[in-house]
Amino acid sequence: MTEQKARNGTSVFCIANQKGGVGKTTTAINLAAALAAQGKRVLLVDLDPQGNATMGSGIDKNAEQKNLYAVLIGEASVEEVRVRSDAGGYDVLPANRELSGAEIDLIQMDAREQQLRQALAGVGGQYDFVLIDCPPTLSLLTLNGLACADGIIIPMQCEYFALEGLSDLVNTVKRVHRNINPDLKLIGLLRVMFDPRVTLQQQVSAQIERHFGDKVFKAVVPRNVRLAEAPSHGVPGTVYDKNSRGAKAYVEFGKELIKRVGREAAAARA
Ligand code: ADP
Ligand code: MG
Repeated sequence: MTEQKARNGTSVFCIANQKGGVGKTTTAINLAAALAAQGKRVLLVDLDPQGNATMGSGIDKNAEQKNLYAVLIGEASVEEVRVRSDAGGYDVLPANRELSGAEIDLIQMDAREQQLRQALAGVGGQYDFVLIDCPPTLSLLTLNGLACADGIIIPMQCEYFALEGLSDLVNTVKRVHRNINPDLKLIGLLRVMFDPRVTLQQQVSAQIERHFGDKVFKAVVPRNVRLAEAPSHGVPGTVYDKNSRGAKAYVEFGKELIKRVGREAAAARA
């Protein structure tokens, strides 16, 4: 039995891109809420010391007694640290600046890139989806995310240098796949902050489709101010204004991902 099956059908996905400000956290929060709205049990892991996914889920990152840091260094279990996002309908492993200290503590540990994987094993089967919001660096924190994920979802803007950065990331996925986690694969690329009026964005979008084929999600998230406003209210954009174009796009994306996961599970059984 593979470990993935042993996790009772939980899909663990990293939302990653080594660039900052490309929509990782927005995607993590809104995807978590979209999946929860479809009746899925979701855990959102905030692996970024900035704690934006935590705050955007309506959880005060500094009020919590314990955060992901305690989990990674083995001082607390996932059950002890997770908090419910009432706004989003999912659970969160919260983070704050303390998490940046984990980098240094982890270096001294055995199996330092396997700490998150081991911690999550304790809640295997309790969730349909575990989404990991990664920081914009290839750090030991990110490596902990990649080491325990079944796959990686890459949000990207359709800009001139996007493809160049992408090849670095795809190579990283290949290296992690080879050396640390044979389960890791590219689940797909999600175009975000898309503005169809900009010719260059259309061109890059078409180029991405040619290059990555069916690895490109059909759902496209438009640039939409409601998505940017939502975090300051501590609710996912899909809840803040469910009729906004941004919210609708993330709901579509959630449905598409559920279908894709179902198809892959069926293919794996066949
Ligand atoms: P990352 O996690 O990759 O650093 P964020 O999700 O924090 O990126 O997004 C960076 C900024 O862009 C934030 O201010 C966010 O509110 C905004 N943003 C993200 N997605 C959209 C979108 N589709 N439309 C408008 N603004 C967006
Ligand atoms: Mg972020």
